This record gives sequence, structure tokens and C-alpha cells, in this order.
Amino acid sequence: MTTEYPPCASVKLRVLATTDLHMQVRGWDYTADRAAPGMGLARIASLIEAARDEAPNSLVLDCGDHLQGNPMGDLFAGESGLHPMFAAMHAAGIEATTLGNHDFNYGLEALENALETAPFPVLCANVVLTGDGALLVPATTILERRVRDAEGAEQVLRIGLIGLCPPQIMMWDARHLSGRVEAGDMIDAAAAHVPALRAAGADIVIALSHSGIEPGPRQPLQEQASLHLARVPGIDAIVAGHQHRLFPGPEFAAGDGIDHEAGTLHDVPTVMPGFWGTHLGVLDLDLVRDGNRWRIAGHESTLRPVADRTADGSLRLLVPESPAVL
Ligand code: MN
Ligand code: MG
Repeated sequence: MTTEYPPCASVKLRVLATTDLHMQVRGWDYTADRAAPGMGLARIASLIEAARDEAPNSLVLDCGDHLQGNPMGDLFAGESGLHPMFAAMHAAGIEATTLGNHDFNYGLEALENALETAPFPVLCANVVLTGDGALLVPATTILERRVRDAEGAEQVLRIGLIGLCPPQIMMWDARHLSGRVEAGDMIDAAAAHVPALRAAGADIVIALSHSGIEPGPRQPLQEQASLHLARVPGIDAIVAGHQHRLFPGPEFAAGDGIDHEAGTLHDVPTVMPGFWGTHLGVLDLDLVRDGNRWRIAGHESTLRPVADRTADGSLRLLVPESPAVL
């Protein structure tokens, strides 16, 4: 018996990722009020622009801890209107994010004020309101994007996203959150929401996991859960964060499903781009459509720094700051 499928298609999708920006808009130490040029979203935005120019199709995602981290975060906390960090992220091209634990630091009213005018989806699947159990923010979304395949033809790709945040917010921000919201286990939340995201038409699913990478067996309410997230069926790629580390790279050891050279967790392509805008995460996904299903046939996970060190130890800036973000 033979089955006839529509012709195959292949699409290269470049996923660019930031995490733990913590209000670091420009290369400035906002506490000491002096230049700190080796970091900041403004320089990351130039890396984003260059990386987009090299790829036929791209998407820019953030992984949380954006609204807090320096005196500028304190200054704008609770203000109504478009939050300057969200404005800066939007100017950099960021298309979706999740809530990180620090985004709760100023309380729910301040967070809701910022969310009201957020120019992109802000997701979180494991925080619900006490009482009716409704989600605080949407758990997932699908970004429908027109992409170019290898033959130059247009394809429509529905990219599913899910956001996750450490449930430890219930301790760290108990005074703001106790009795008002409840935070559940990130893996349980992913296992509950990813099938629905697939059923709603997501061709691929990328997890925005504000959570680090930790070897060893799964723990209940685990803070660093990205390794176990990779085992949840239906997740194709992971943007990780919270740990303020770089993945792939030597900060992690191999083993237990972690491949710190290839940048995979249980063979799922993963990136963790540090913090404060020192690095851009680049996940290159080769997607192949067999019939109606898209699958990942190849991938590469890398990091790009905004600066490096010369032989004499001095900082060398690799890109300028983006005027759009400044
Ligand atoms: Mn952080
Ligand atoms: Mg965090």
C-alpha cells in the first residue's frame, strides 16, 4: 500500500533569544552611574539585526526577568503606560516573553500595569489566581509566521510558545503573592499545556523556560527544571534562563542528558544567553515537513557576545548600540 503525501518542504528558522535582561537597556551601570559598555539590550539589538540579515526566517524571543534589576526598574515600577523596558525590547525586535521570578518583585499591581500595554505576548503557564484558578497571564500562544522554504516558496508556520517561571516566587515574593496567586510545578504545567498547544495547531513548540539546567533526578517544584522540560513530549526547542549562565558552553558539564557542546538537553536544542545583555542566543532549526507535520531535522545552538577581550585584557566592543533602542 502506498500513501501519497504532498511534496516535502524544508524551512530554516533562526530563533534569537535574550534572557534576564534586568532593565539593562544600554551599556550603563545604572547604580554607579557610569559606563558599562560590555552589556545591554541596545548592543544586543545590533547583534539581532545582523543575525536576522543572515537568515531567511527568524524570530526573536525573551525568557523573563526583564522589569527589575537596577534603579531604572525601581523608578518605573507601577507607572501606567508603556513600560520603557517593554518599549526597548519591542524596538529590539522581541516578539514574545515569559514572566521571570523578578518580574513579581514590585507586586501584582505593578506587574499588571506593565502587562496592560505590553507590545508582545507575555506568557506563564504555571501561575494561577487563588480561588478560581484562572491563569494570571496566558500560558501559551501561537505566532503565525509566513516563512520562505528552501525553494523560495512561502509557507505558513505556526510557532507555539509556552512560558514557565520558578514556583519559588511564592517564597521570594510571599508578601506580594500569598493568598493572591499560586505557582505550580513547571514540568506539570508544561505537560498539561503542550498537548493543547499542539491540538490548537502549533507546528513546533518552543518553551520559554525561566529556569536553569541542573543534572540529576527530577524534584517536585524544581527551580532549575529545564533538563526535565526537555523530556516533555511535544517540546521542540528550549530557551532557558534564570541561572544567569551561558549554554552551550563550559559552564556546564556533560552527562545526564546535557550536551554542553552541541547545546542540547536530551537532544532538544537549547540555549541560555547569560544575563544583562552580554550574549545573544542563536538557535538555528532546520524544519522538514512530512505530510502535514513539521519536524526538526537538524539544529545548531550558539551564543554571540556583544564584546570580547583583546590579548592585553581590554574590552573590545563587537557591535554598536542600536539607535532604535537608545
Ligand atoms: Mn534573573
Ligand atoms: Mg530569575
